[in-house]
Amino acid sequence: MASNMDFDVIVVGAGPGGCIAARDLARAKFRVALFDKDNRDTLGKTIIVEAQRAMFDLVGIPQLQGDEVPYQERRTRTFSKRRKECFAIEAGHVCASLYLDRFAKKLLAEAEKDGAQFFGGWTAKEPVVKGKRVAGVRFDRGGTTEDVAAKLVIDATGYDAALVSKLGPDLGIEFEDRQADLVIAENHFHEAGEHNAKKAVKEGRQGDDEVWMRLGAYGNYSTEYSFLSIQKQRAYILIGFKADYRQPPIKDLTKAFREDAGYYGKWLYGGAGPIRVRRSLDQLVADGFMVIGEAACQVMPTNGSGVASALYAGHLAAKVAAPALKERAPTAGDLWRYAREYQSGRGAVLATHDAAKLLLDHLPNDRIADMLESGVMQPDDIHSGSVPEFMKIKPESLPGRALALIRNPALIRFVMRTGKAASAVRKHYEAYPRRYDAKEIRAWKEAAKRIFEPMEINRKLPK
Ligand SMILES: Cc1cc2nc3c(=O)[nH]c(=O)nc-3n(C[C@H](O)[C@H](O)[C@H](O)COP(=O)(O)OP(=O)(O)OC[C@H]3O[C@@H](n4cnc5c(N)ncnc54)[C@H](O)[C@@H]3O)c2cc1C
Repeated sequence: MASNMDFDVIVVGAGPGGCIAARDLARAKFRVALFDKDNRDTLGKTIIVEAQRAMFDLVGIPQLQGDEVPYQERRTRTFSKRRKECFAIEAGHVCASLYLDRFAKKLLAEAEKDGAQFFGGWTAKEPVVKGKRVAGVRFDRGGTTEDVAAKLVIDATGYDAALVSKLGPDLGIEFEDRQADLVIAENHFHEAGEHNAKKAVKEGRQGDDEVWMRLGAYGNYSTEYSFLSIQKQRAYILIGFKADYRQPPIKDLTKAFREDAGYYGKWLYGGAGPIRVRRSLDQLVADGFMVIGEAACQVMPTNGSGVASALYAGHLAAKVAAPALKERAPTAGDLWRYAREYQSGRGAVLATHDAAKLLLDHLPNDRIADMLESGVMQPDDIHSGSVPEFMKIKPESLPGRALALIRNPALIRFVMRTGKAASAVRKHYEAYPRRYDAKEIRAWKEAAKRIFEPMEINRKLPK
């Protein structure tokens, strides 16, 4: 059934990325429809996430305060899987914790205030493609199919990637999905029992107002991230690891953690879900189409953070789309500046972290602990994932790292290879085509494949 609804822009997915894109385009006076499979009350994942604070200022949202912030640590201590403390980082509050569903609802209110129309309970099934142009979206709405047309469709459906994954190579965007890129994570936020919490701190099993992060305990790419505050009586645990590690069900692991800790009281909030951790899709626009946020795989590969990237991409996509929409139904060429700016900037940073993540998976699991305990891995490496920035070795950390490598010669090859791979990736992403040219972009994609394929698991590493 064809709908009589007609918009300049359809944004599908009212997560952080979709809401910011809808807000900015509505602010620019376009007729914007923002669709979500969930309705207003059930919108957003019930998970706690940490998001880069600087991004709030960049996209123009007030910093979160008071009850909007579930926890704030004084410092983060990093441990190996053998529970050896490796280093502590005093909180610089580069990131803030937040309740994702409340945050999405708040951003939706902003978008609506600026004139975007929200449609809850509409599930996007596929893009409506006319010739080689995306001309609208086919929705399911309580068992009824409706097609809605627009000059521009923005896919912001997060992990589901509901539209982009169905586009087909004709439109130039290939959606690649690999089990090896899939991370599963679960978090729980509880009241903390004061007596048992104090006991745990006294016994050195957890720090007060501290995050304790144990890396590599559930496979090379894994984290166990916990927080406790005696004064606020709050406790938090997040566990995440790659789905192909064949670990016990994650809910059993988070449960075992809480039982061992002994201070986890009443459950307050939390949830679980998959995260696609890999460099972004090679191409982010087609005629009448843009993809942003986790749907475009714009998640920091070394730590699974996608909120700040989604905000950034939504803001940037709207900035590029607005002038194009004033002229006509935009083509891939009109929208290209979004792809170029993303890929050569934030995308380049995230892609270098993808290289590090891929190479890390080739090491025997004990080497991860060796790397942390010896000082080959340092606080800067964690920090570069949070900011995010290119991994760089600070001069002051050089002597410690060099000494650690002398003691662990088995890691020298890995460190050299990672450095070499990261600089090749950076160079390639910074040279992302400046304008839309099918031949040039095809050559860029093929070269990207040649750079990354040797790093992927089950393939031999280059000499
Ligand atoms: C347990 C866990 C912990 C995480 N921790 C962090 C963290 O600490 N920091 C961080 O930055 N990120 C974290 N992430 C990842 C983060 O949640 C996502 O990367 C981020 O929310 C992506 O934002 P987005 O706007 O692209 O999409 P989302 O926030 O996923 O929003 C997508 C929206 O699209 C809607 N949608 C989906 N399919 C359809 C469809 N077919 N039709 C209509 N609507 C649809 C959904 O209902 C949703 O509202 C975590 C994820 C999980 C699961």
